Amino acid sequence: MSTLSTLAALLLVVQTAFTAPTETSVSSVFGSEKVACSIFKQKYPDHTFYPNTAGYTYETQSQYWSARQFSLPACVFVPSSATQVSFAITTLTLTLSKFAIRGGGHMPVPGYNNIDSNGILLSTSNLSTLALSKDQATVSIGPGNRWRNVYAYLQPYGLAVAGGRVGSVGVPGLLLGGGISFYSNQYGFASNNVVKYECVLASGIIIEATARNAYSDLFWALKGGGNSFCIVTRFDLKAFKSPKVWVGMAQYDQSQSANYLDAVYTFGKYGALDSKAAIIPTVVMLPGINTTIYVTAKFYDSETSSPTVFENFTAPNLVSFSDSFALQPLSTYIDSTDVLQPLGLRQEFRVMSSIVSRDAIGLIHDTYTSAVSAKLSGVANLTTTITFQPITKEFIQQGINAGGNPQGVDISKAPYFWMDESWSWTREEDDETILNFADSVTADINKQLQAKGLAGTYLYMNDAGKGQPIFQSYPAKNLERLKEVREKYDPSRIYTNLTPGGWKVLQA
Ligand SMILES: Cc1cc2nc3c(=O)[nH]c(=O)nc-3n(C[C@H](O)[C@H](O)[C@H](O)COP(=O)(O)OP(=O)(O)OC[C@H]3O[C@@H](n4cnc5c(N)ncnc54)[C@H](O)[C@@H]3O)c2cc1C
Repeated sequence: MSTLSTLAALLLVVQTAFTAPTETSVSSVFGSEKVACSIFKQKYPDHTFYPNTAGYTYETQSQYWSARQFSLPACVFVPSSATQVSFAITTLTLTLSKFAIRGGGHMPVPGYNNIDSNGILLSTSNLSTLALSKDQATVSIGPGNRWRNVYAYLQPYGLAVAGGRVGSVGVPGLLLGGGISFYSNQYGFASNNVVKYECVLASGIIIEATARNAYSDLFWALKGGGNSFCIVTRFDLKAFKSPKVWVGMAQYDQSQSANYLDAVYTFGKYGALDSKAAIIPTVVMLPGINTTIYVTAKFYDSETSSPTVFENFTAPNLVSFSDSFALQPLSTYIDSTDVLQPLGLRQEFRVMSSIVSRDAIGLIHDTYTSAVSAKLSGVANLTTTITFQPITKEFIQQGINAGGNPQGVDISKAPYFWMDESWSWTREEDDETILNFADSVTADINKQLQAKGLAGTYLYMNDAGKGQPIFQSYPAKNLERLKEVREKYDPSRIYTNLTPGGWKVLQA
């Protein structure tokens, strides 16, 4: 059968599905993925990979951060233009085939960016556009890029964007969940810096959404609504001058823990006083060798370092055993940290939120570190971290000034800490221990925070683990609006039912 006659036959199946009396949405048909794969192979042989080929292995394994994400889809389709994405969506819809979308592959939730042999993986690896506008005010970024490519591309122009703080992280996932950047105290969520999205709707139509055009509702939804709406094929992001920054990592031993927590608290409380500054304070535990290290990345968006903003993180207040803080292009620092994020380990995340209080940090730190010491010493090659990300009033205000976000973070209770708990390990047989621990320690800390009135309400999608109630933490009216936007652009629920992976607004 030719591609066209296959599609025509399948159209009949779809029409039947759409006109069924009680169902307005589609669901997949058993075996249909094989038909879709053969259509892709026939039309785009060089972009379609079956199992046991180098292209398939590359796309299903080497592009993921966590080994728990490796999967065996029926085939992988790797479009290289929005038109090819449109063809893919039309084919997947007509064949009623399940599919997953993968950008940088860093969301460590099994099934959220991958799919088993009953579905197809749509990889954005080949959508790798990087183009600076003539006036150098914006940069067009294809979703196949990782942040390291973006910073390296902009560096010769002395420019940067508000993007990820680790180079291997993908552009699309970070922007669709919001995005915490080193520049967020100046420019808000990374997504607040997007001026235009090109995306493929469920109908296969390619549109551009801006704050002011006919798709302004979709533009708003994409700033933190995840993958329920369309496939983004290009992000146009504001660029700004930032040729060199002061940035680096300081490490402290266990004897410094109390002063370290004091310093983190003080930055959380007063960090907004200098919006050029940012930190990523992380407590790193290696239970196998009974060691805990206190680390912070320090960042200052200027060629002149601030003498005061980091004084609590330097001697005599806090004595580091190493500190790489130096003036350098951001891209140089980003490249140097790749080594800290090896691929191929098993990974899990959980997210929590608190208001900024010294009691809150102490409670979280003590509960976490004692639970890890008591329960996880038997897990081989385990590294576990808890990061206290300071979210200043200024960060949230920047988002409001830029037109607001679906996340609707309550500025009246700011500043906050958004905590990211993470576990990296090697043996599959330890999965259950880690997952149970992740659930129980998170529930325990949340219960204590709530009892003391220290909990925050908003949960950041990009640091979350499976089952965490992300959209339920958005203001009810924003969630309602997200649902309306989803219904308007995808009434057949292609990006909900046929694309099961990801946090779905409809399911909140
Ligand atoms: C080591 C590490 C460092 C991190 N650092 C930061 C940081 O500095 N700041 C921060 O905010 N977050 C950070 N994160 C979290 C990160 O933002 C999320 O994991 C994010 O989802 C990664 O994006 P990705 O493209 O790699 O994800 P993927 O796993 O490829 O995708 C994530 C989700 O987006 C969907 N998606 C992907 N591409 C598209 C598309 N084109 N259209 C529609 N949907 C799509 C996928 O289906 C999936 O559900 C970090 C994560 C890790 C593991």
